[in-house]
Amino acid sequence: MTLEKYRAKRKFNKTPEPSPLAKALGDKQRDGKIFVVQKHHARALHYDFRLEMDGVLKSWAVPKGVSKKPGEKRLAVMTEDHPLEYAAFEGVIPEGNYGAGSVEVWDKGIYSMVEKKEKSLKFILKGEKLRGEYILFNFKDRNWFLFKTMYV
Ligand code: MN
Repeated sequence: MTLEKYRAKRKFNKTPEPSPLAKALGDKQRDGKIFVVQKHHARALHYDFRLEMDGVLKSWAVPKGVSKKPGEKRLAVMTEDHPLEYAAFEGVIPEGNYGAGSVEVWDKGIYSMVEKKEKSLKFILKGEKLRGEYILFNFKDRNWFLFKTMYV
C-alpha cells in the first residue's frame, strides 16, 4: 500500500508520528537496508514488521510477533507503507488517532535481500533479537506468512 494511505489516515498536528515530509535517516546509518519491529500497544497488541524497500518501509502487522524458531509461521498482514524515518519512532499516538496507543522499537537492524519475487521475499535479518534467514510469503490478498528458515 502507498504512502498516500499513510498520510490519509493521520492528522500530523495531532500525532507525534513523523510526517512523510520529515527528513529521512542520515546517510551514515545507511550501509545496509534497515528493518525494524515496533511493538504497538493499540486496541490489540501487535508487532509491526517493516523492511526498507524502494525508499519506503514496507509494513506488515504481526499479531503474535516474529518467531525466532525456524519453521514457526506467523501471520503478517500487509499494511500501508511508512516513511523511512518512522523506523526510529517511539512514543504514544493519542486517543482518537489512527493506531492510538504506544509504540516501542522491539528490534532493529539491517537486512540483505536474498530473493525477491512478487509473492515471496527471502532475506537475512541482522538485528539484536532477530538474526537469520526469513521468508515472507503472500498466500492470500494482504495475508502473508513470516517465518525463519535457518540461522545464518
Ligand atoms: Mn501498528
